[in-house]
Amino acid sequence: MRRLLAAACLALPLAASAQQHAGHAHTHGQARLDVALDGGQLSLALEVPLDSLVGFERAPRTAQERARVDAVLAGLRAADGLVRPNPEAGCRLAGVELNSAALKLGPAASSAAPDDGHADLDADLRFDCTQPERLRRIDLDLFKAWPRLQRVDVQVALPSGQLKRTLKRPDGRLSLERP
Ligand SMILES: [Zn+2]
Repeated sequence: MRRLLAAACLALPLAASAQQHAGHAHTHGQARLDVALDGGQLSLALEVPLDSLVGFERAPRTAQERARVDAVLAGLRAADGLVRPNPEAGCRLAGVELNSAALKLGPAASSAAPDDGHADLDADLRFDCTQPERLRRIDLDLFKAWPRLQRVDVQVALPSGQLKRTLKRPDGRLSLERP
C-alpha cells in the first residue's frame, strides 16, 4: 500500500485524492481500488467494507460466519481467479497481503478494532508482468464473488498518466485505455 501511494504521489496530481483513499471513506456496497503499474510490477490495493464481503463487520461468531470469512479469504489469496489482467501482458500473481483489524488479519491485527461499528478488509495484490506495455484491461470478478458489492471506484496510475473509473454491477471489466 505504501509503495502504491508513493507511486500515486509521484505521478501527481492524484496525490490529494490518494490521501482520501487512505482515509476512512466507508460506504456499504462500495469498494475502492488503486491500480498502479510501475515497470513490470502491477499493484492493486483494494479496500472493501466487510459488510460487502460477508454481511457483518466484526469477528465471526458462529461456524457459519467463520466459513463465510474463510471462503472470502481463500478467494483473495488465490486472487488471480478474481483479478485477471489481459493475458498478453503476461502478468502472474506474485503476492497477496490481507489486512483487517476486525478479522485479526495481517499487520492490522494488532491494532484496535474499529470503534464505530464499521470495518474494512484491505487486500494488496502484486503481479509481475513480462509484457507490461501490453496491459489493456483487468477483468475483475468481484461482483460475481461478492453479491453485496455494487460498485468499485477505481484510480489507476500508469506510466502514461492517471485514469479514474467507476465499475458498477454487473460489469467488472476495467479498461485501462483512454476513451
Ligand atoms: Zn460498515
